[in-house]
Amino acid sequence: MKILKNALLSNFSNFKIGGPAREIVLIENSEELKEVLEGDFLVFGHGTNVLFPDEGLDKRVIFNRTGLFHMDGTWIVADSGTSLQEVVKASVDRGLSGLEYLAGIPGTIGGAIFGNAGAFGKQIGDYVIEVEYWKNSKLIKEKNLYFGYRESVFKRKGGVITKAWLKLRRGTGKEKKIMENILSRRAKKHPPHNVPCAGSFFKNVVLPSGEKIPAGALLESVGAKGLRVGGAKVFEGHANFIINDGGATARDVLTLAEILKRKVKEHFGIILEEEVIIVRAS
Ligand SMILES: Cc1cc2nc3c(=O)[nH]c(=O)nc-3n(C[C@H](O)[C@H](O)[C@H](O)COP(=O)(O)OP(=O)(O)OC[C@H]3O[C@@H](n4cnc5c(N)ncnc54)[C@H](O)[C@@H]3O)c2cc1C
Repeated sequence: MKILKNALLSNFSNFKIGGPAREIVLIENSEELKEVLEGDFLVFGHGTNVLFPDEGLDKRVIFNRTGLFHMDGTWIVADSGTSLQEVVKASVDRGLSGLEYLAGIPGTIGGAIFGNAGAFGKQIGDYVIEVEYWKNSKLIKEKNLYFGYRESVFKRKGGVITKAWLKLRRGTGKEKKIMENILSRRAKKHPPHNVPCAGSFFKNVVLPSGEKIPAGALLESVGAKGLRVGGAKVFEGHANFIINDGGATARDVLTLAEILKRKVKEHFGIILEEEVIIVRAS
């Protein structure tokens, strides 16, 4: 493992925002992960869904880069730090069906399970059968994971995900095409890879009927595209992405997010909820 003292969290965040952490620990395998889960700590994967505070964090911040996975028939067993995209590609190459809809979502398996990452009506929780996690100094295996829209038992009750068992289906031969189609649709509407951001900033709105209203559509109709506070800007191509347009601080992003929320509340009476995980200074 690698330990960095007072290094900037911005270097480990896709948003490229965040002050120094007392200690940043980079974990390469699951044995190391279990060794460092003591005291006051936070665990992240690839930092693609987080906004770290400008003040930094006075605690141990662990970035999980464990990355072993194997496939057996339609099963996949993966360390939580495995790249989701590596698993998506490997499963499609093996002729398995399910994960092709998650093509292009950055981050780790652990981060995806925490927030039940998904797109195009599918989410990782549809395929996760069991998770091993660490909580209160115990290693636990759990099958009841209470996945919902960007929700899981881990988001509500904590625990550090160490390993996951996913079950896919035998493919029909169309998976590769679906994956390529999804990647090209994403490339058209999402910010390019070199633009710092943390994915969709707000969750879509779920009506009591179950129907979803895209947050991006609400934001677009209140004129959000192109709005800016300091270095934080609403992406011109999709109103639900706040990007770091150069030198943005967490304060810039949060101020812009408040303005967007206020506009949507005034026009539609709807209170948008953040999808991005906002980490507060300790
Ligand atoms: C360009 C772009 C496009 C995106 N598109 C999508 C999309 O289509 N759909 C979607 O759902 N998301 C999307 N995202 C958001 C993001 O990719 C996902 O939320 C991803 O699953 C986060 O994984 P991560 O490893 O980066 O998590 P991080 O950002 O590192 O962490 C996110 C949260 O997960 C927790 N966490 C991470 N690992 C663990 C673990 N092992 N145990 C317990 N908790 C853990 C962290 O504590 C934190 O609260 C997008 C992001 C970007 C930048």
